Amino acid sequence: MYRRDFIKKAGALALGGAAAAPAVHARSHIRWKMVTTWPKNFPGLGTGANHLARLITEMSGGRLRVKVYGAKEIVPAFEVFDAVSRGTAEMGHGSAYYWKGKSEAAQFFSTVPFGMTAQEMNAWLYYGGGLELWRELYAHFGLIPFPAGNSGVQMGGWFNKEINSVEDLNGLKMRIPGLGGEVLRRAGGTPVNLPGGELFTALESGAIDATEWVGPYNDLAFGLYKAAKFYYYPGFHEPGTTMEAIVNRQAFEALPKDLRAIVSAACQVVNQDMLAEYNARNPGALQTLLRKHKVDMRRYPDDVLARLRQLSAEVVAEIARKDDFSGKTYASYQKFLEQARTWTDISEFAYLKARDGHRAQRTGDAGREG
Ligand code: CA
Repeated sequence: MYRRDFIKKAGALALGGAAAAPAVHARSHIRWKMVTTWPKNFPGLGTGANHLARLITEMSGGRLRVKVYGAKEIVPAFEVFDAVSRGTAEMGHGSAYYWKGKSEAAQFFSTVPFGMTAQEMNAWLYYGGGLELWRELYAHFGLIPFPAGNSGVQMGGWFNKEINSVEDLNGLKMRIPGLGGEVLRRAGGTPVNLPGGELFTALESGAIDATEWVGPYNDLAFGLYKAAKFYYYPGFHEPGTTMEAIVNRQAFEALPKDLRAIVSAACQVVNQDMLAEYNARNPGALQTLLRKHKVDMRRYPDDVLARLRQLSAEVVAEIARKDDFSGKTYASYQKFLEQARTWTDISEFAYLKARDGHRAQRTGDAGREG
């Protein structure tokens, strides 16, 4: 009786195995499209998306093959969110502040002026409740977000006139998107939003007085030094911009558990890797800008930074009043930042000052930093 049962079961298993094989085989070639907000192969950002697609494809042994499409190849940059939401593509790569039209709260999952650094953002997202909030927001759109890259602290931007006081911001026409743009408006300037590809011409023709982009690695690639004299730092408006991978929820949930784990892990690899790449390539590009192209690099004066910090606090706090979810996200972000900075102050900040104190004195920054 036992033996007959066993044989029957073994036979059923064998049959099941044979029957299941073609299905497994069919699933082994799941193909996903990844649409991106970046030009195809754009250094750092576009190549980061390529890296993510390659990792998923290789880690899955080719069972999940992801193909990357640059902006405009399937949808324009600013339609990536909707395209993945409705399933035109299974996956997207961009940054959450582009979707503030869906919810103002989205900006907290990207970057806000005078907000968290890359290290603090990752701490908040992975261990401080940030990612849970982000997932709660995107669930309304049938999407699952993953942190998938970081630019680190960006540069302040390229200017054709010196910024010596708050008054110099008056009437300044600058390409600076998002909340940074709103801060500039309140300081008396005129923010303009232009896609990256149009920055050089706009700056060179005098259509704009200044522009920010990313940092030395990307700014050198665009040749912005040929169109402006002064390169200001720090990028108060983007202190650690998180990039995102978004996945269509239905497509994600249709995956077997191991492939879901691979998608999630690959995003985390790229999240860390992109920051390392920027930190590795920015210094060399900066030296090229300073030594070869004789760029005049300046630090924003203290009183300018103080005014921008004050205006930023107002602008960011106003998001909290837009709706309940934005209020909840702001509260979580601010609470985490207040805690994080007590540690950052006595760890990274204190250490870097101790390590580089002699350099700060040599460049005269020590006195100015107070
Ligand atoms: Ca930027």
